[in-house]
Amino acid sequence: MKILISADMEGATGVTWPADVLPGTAQWERCRAMFTSDVNAAVLGLYDGGADRVLVNEAHWTMRNLLLERLDARAEMLTGRHKSLSMVEGVQHGDVDGVAFVGYHTGAGAEGVLAHTYLANSITGVWLNGLRASEGLLNAHVVAEYGVPVILVTGDDLTCADAAAYAPDARTVAVKDHVSRYAAVCRTPARTAADIRAAAAEAVPLAVRYEPVRGGPFAVEVEFDAEHLSMAATVVPGVERCAERRIAYTSGTMYEGIRTFKAVTTVVSAAVEEQYG
Ligand SMILES: [Zn+2]
Repeated sequence: MKILISADMEGATGVTWPADVLPGTAQWERCRAMFTSDVNAAVLGLYDGGADRVLVNEAHWTMRNLLLERLDARAEMLTGRHKSLSMVEGVQHGDVDGVAFVGYHTGAGAEGVLAHTYLANSITGVWLNGLRASEGLLNAHVVAEYGVPVILVTGDDLTCADAAAYAPDARTVAVKDHVSRYAAVCRTPARTAADIRAAAAEAVPLAVRYEPVRGGPFAVEVEFDAEHLSMAATVVPGVERCAERRIAYTSGTMYEGIRTFKAVTTVVSAAVEEQYG
């Protein structure tokens, strides 16, 4: 049985503000150890529960945050950028039985520690078929197209609540309780590692592949914090402006939907000016 861990950093133990997740800062150096602790706890729990292969896909920013040398020797890790399925790369080869979202967070415009959807501040909201969407929700639709269930979600308490919308059967672990976008009541790495390990072991029986879901078409809307960004995004084929600060597109599959979303975020990032946004 093979499990894929999609590992994001904003929802990791102890992480509460931008410097904690910004590669190169002293705070990031400190927090990447706690992030690694969360991921390794999930690895250990998955093996405890009967998994025999675990692949960790780095899913935060440069996708070079985890300390490989501190992971259990049985695990493998996919490090670095430019992957066709981005945060859930690795699910498409037909050999993954379950996916764990470790260190996840709530979506842009929602309450939650470091809430955002891909871009930290330029995107103020994402809607999928009219419902506000988090990265967890979008990625859950992608993995469903390969018939793979989401079995475990970790992050702040609001991320665990968000998971009920896309993976109601998944085990969840809140490593911290939301106070504001940049504040949380945090539990120690020793405590959260024990909680994550136990939940991961319990989650393994949920890793039962099913018939791939064809859930499309997916109508996606993205709202930006500045008007010119919606204009910039229209260079991506199929993307249209639907309001001053909003774009819309429709994809037949979430595979295409997430790829178009990545193209939009790449173009929009390049269109942000330092002072004016
Ligand atoms: Zn993220």
